[in-house]
Amino acid sequence: MAQNKWFNMQTDQVQSELDTNVNTGLRKEQVEQKQQKYGKNELPEPEKDPKWLKFLRQFNDTLIYVLIAAAVLTVILGHYADTVVILMVIIINAIIGYFQENKAEKALEGIKKMLSLESTVIRDGKHSEIASSDLVPGDIVLLSPGDKIPADLRLTATSRLTIEESSLTGESTSVEKNTETLPEDTVLGDRLNMAFSGTAVVSGSGQGIVVSTGTNTEIGKINQSIAEVEELKTPLLKQTAHFGKMISITIVSVAALLFVYAAFFFDYPIGELLLYVISLTVSAIPEGLPAILSIILSLGMQVMARNNAIMRNLPSVETLGAVTVICSDKTGTLTKNEMTVQSIELSNRHLDVTGTGYAPEGKILKNNQEVNIAEDKVLQMFLSNVLTINDAYLRKDNSGEWTISGEPTEGCLVTLAEKANQEIDRLPILSKIPFDSSYKYMAGLVEKDGKKIIYVKGAPDRLFDMADLVEGSEERKLWEDKMLARSSNGERIIGAAYKYVADDKMQIDHEDICEGLNIIGLAGILDPPREEAIEAVKVCKKAGIQVKMITGDHKATALAIAKQMGITEQDNVLEGRELDQMSEEEMQNAVRNVDVFARTSPENKLQLVTAMQENDEITAMTGDGVNDAPALKRADIGVAMGVKGTEVAKEASEMVLVDDNFNTIVNAVKEGRRVYDNLKKTILFILPTNGAEAFLIVSALIVGMNMPLSPIQVLYVNMVTAVTVSFALAFEKLEPGAMERPPRPSNAKLLSPYYIFRIILVSLLVGGAIMTMNVTLLGDPAHYTQEQVTTITLHSIVIAQVFHVFNVRNERHFAFNKDFFSNKIAFMLAGVLIVLQLMVTYIPFLRNVFDLYPIEAQYWIYPFVIGLMTFIIIEIEKYITRKISAKATFNKENKQE
Ligand code: ATP
Repeated sequence: MAQNKWFNMQTDQVQSELDTNVNTGLRKEQVEQKQQKYGKNELPEPEKDPKWLKFLRQFNDTLIYVLIAAAVLTVILGHYADTVVILMVIIINAIIGYFQENKAEKALEGIKKMLSLESTVIRDGKHSEIASSDLVPGDIVLLSPGDKIPADLRLTATSRLTIEESSLTGESTSVEKNTETLPEDTVLGDRLNMAFSGTAVVSGSGQGIVVSTGTNTEIGKINQSIAEVEELKTPLLKQTAHFGKMISITIVSVAALLFVYAAFFFDYPIGELLLYVISLTVSAIPEGLPAILSIILSLGMQVMARNNAIMRNLPSVETLGAVTVICSDKTGTLTKNEMTVQSIELSNRHLDVTGTGYAPEGKILKNNQEVNIAEDKVLQMFLSNVLTINDAYLRKDNSGEWTISGEPTEGCLVTLAEKANQEIDRLPILSKIPFDSSYKYMAGLVEKDGKKIIYVKGAPDRLFDMADLVEGSEERKLWEDKMLARSSNGERIIGAAYKYVADDKMQIDHEDICEGLNIIGLAGILDPPREEAIEAVKVCKKAGIQVKMITGDHKATALAIAKQMGITEQDNVLEGRELDQMSEEEMQNAVRNVDVFARTSPENKLQLVTAMQENDEITAMTGDGVNDAPALKRADIGVAMGVKGTEVAKEASEMVLVDDNFNTIVNAVKEGRRVYDNLKKTILFILPTNGAEAFLIVSALIVGMNMPLSPIQVLYVNMVTAVTVSFALAFEKLEPGAMERPPRPSNAKLLSPYYIFRIILVSLLVGGAIMTMNVTLLGDPAHYTQEQVTTITLHSIVIAQVFHVFNVRNERHFAFNKDFFSNKIAFMLAGVLIVLQLMVTYIPFLRNVFDLYPIEAQYWIYPFVIGLMTFIIIEIEKYITRKISAKATFNKENKQE
């Protein structure tokens, strides 16, 4: 089949060759047969790295190099038990890292599946939406703007269809397609009657027959997969990796210095000294940290997906928490997209329309009296215009509810026409200009009473210009007043106009209607705000996140809705054409001071997002059309609409909203903040374990004491706390008040000065307390042996961390608050950790491995006292910090006033 030159055949021939029909498509049995024959319309998965390579890559880390070096040293020293444990830690780490990476990849793949492509096809004579992977040669596919071409198609009908083929030809300007048969030697880039898999519809519409699928398509042949490898490393993970490197260098240098120092001042045998140094090195390395951080991120991603926000990559999960501005479309995101025509304005009268929703139940009234349409030619023409220049259809669904297929703006006009007390003409369209938000109207050539006429419906201010209504003229003022009267209470206005043309006119273009239109009337459409979006705007305000409305609608409509929703209190609105005139600097000022942008074009969106980024804002921006793609790509978080968004918009975005709802974006930002806070808390929790151990070992070495913990014991402590209690922090709820503080600065350092202070404080507290205990207990050799003290030391660090996790769960506020019991997993994991401690102490085999002593029950008092003391001191410290920072904020606010 692949050798057929479909572009060189007449469409009839293509149909007979593939046994199909452009009007009715394939029959069910044909589809089944062809699916058996051709298989799925899919490209093979991109070649993945082999598993062993992925596993080996886990060892490529400075911290692991240091551990390997330590293992080699223990071999030289003959401490094979240490070698085994260090190697085990290295391997366990690699295994955790490997599985974690796999899991993250799987999660991403799952998410990609949720976003799988759909196509509109004709099968068995009916239009239906099917998964693109189920397409077979012979299927008839319909194309509209923003669609990704799902397979190679021979086009059978086109209407101003332009396609961007850069993924195949490298050429980024879009190509206008047609259906004419081409000579046999036409090269790929010139095959204008074909649409190729993987390319995208920019504008217009079309229809084509699937001629090849999967690997037989042109893109399949050049074996270029469209699936890209997603970035798994987030900025925070990169910072952690860098931090790990710094730690390794510091530790190795400190260890070397200490080695020299101790060799010089004390008479430690070299072997023992080396073991010290190894202990120090392995103690200071936060082995489990990187794995835990990526687990927290991918769990966050899954939570977001469950809440209707599908993140397309891991780094964005983190960026979300730092979002400072959300730029949202109005229609359907902030509003319900449930449209009802409320009023009609004709040149000399105002009419009201009753009824709500799409049900064609209601009346058209003038002064509360039903209008007799038969006697009102202008109203007839108005209704016929908005019904004709319309792609929507009204139908009753299975449950008897009235619904529409097509755009709500158009659907409500169909309902309006149905409310007339006589049949309204829906005329056949001879040539059409489809609606596009860049020019904001739609037009069609029709024949009425033997005359050719162009009907136009669209944004009224556009139509006024095209009707030659001079600014300031009386007629223009009359229409503008009518428009403003309706739009200033939030109604969305659609105007209808007409123009007679020569009888031989067969095709229309923009030039045909750029002047000489006659306005018939306006329809005022109500699209109420989503209640939950009003709440979400309030949440944003409190959280220091600005909300900007960027809409194609009229300025007065936009402002009225923005005010109803609490987006703005001022009357400042900027229009797209004003933005077009602005310099970069003016634009940067504008985005600081204005919240509502009306009559914007997709290019304006790109300008706005660029200006915001120049003001150092982290911007989330919504979009749905093909033309929105550049702005979505540019935004820090591009947000595509899952329902009404095009495939191209989805591909350009970081987030896809399953329900097109503004509230979902805000919930995702909330989740982003929770994830980031928990990442930070995990770091705040884990590092003091390393700090305390390092402190203990260094101070023991300096004062010339026996080694408090062996390398094996240190590694045990690090691993066991990492895989248990620190994991609990992944499940911590968002702290109360976390949505009442401003977003974190995007360039915030991994460790703030306060964090460094807290880590050092806890390290010194735990390390210092244990050191004091060691000195005291070892000073009483009659009651305490070195083995007992070592065992108590190990437990003290672990138990102190169990207490400490409850300090860290809430970064600054009191640990015992109403959420204390909310994280059940924290308690469960603390329980698991204590059981592990009992096991390594009292099960002889494990005890021997870790060189521990089965201490008498009363000795457990030391670890608990040290843990409790640390807990209480940190709570006091948090209290003092709270007071100081409250005072600082208070002073700052007073100064500003
Ligand atoms: P938002 O960007 O907030 O989603 P929007 O989708 O309403 O706004 P556009 O679709 O660009 O923005 O619509 C702009 C204007 O174009 C509307 O105010 C309306 O007057 C007109 N309009 C919208 N849809 C149609 C349509 N299908 N046919 C004719 N005119 C339309």
